[in-house]
Amino acid sequence: MIICFLIFIVSSCQQEKAKGMEQKKMLKDVAVINTVYPVCHMKTSESLNDTLVYKGSLYGFCSPECKKEFKGRPESFMVR
Ligand SMILES: [Zn+2]
Repeated sequence: MIICFLIFIVSSCQQEKAKGMEQKKMLKDVAVINTVYPVCHMKTSESLNDTLVYKGSLYGFCSPECKKEFKGRPESFMVR
């Protein structure tokens, strides 16, 4: 049961784009500093859904799950 739930959380990130149903939530005209999501590496211009200010910069995320993942351990996603 718990494993199923975890798989759902992990895969929901990529599924969101394929489903297309939740895309009307997509944010437009929001200037985020990243061109690619740090967590799932999709382009922010294609499915921006959520944002987070980290160290004074606005970062975009494809979903609340993605944002939560980044918030939990931002250092591991900041390659530079
Ligand atoms: Zn994502």
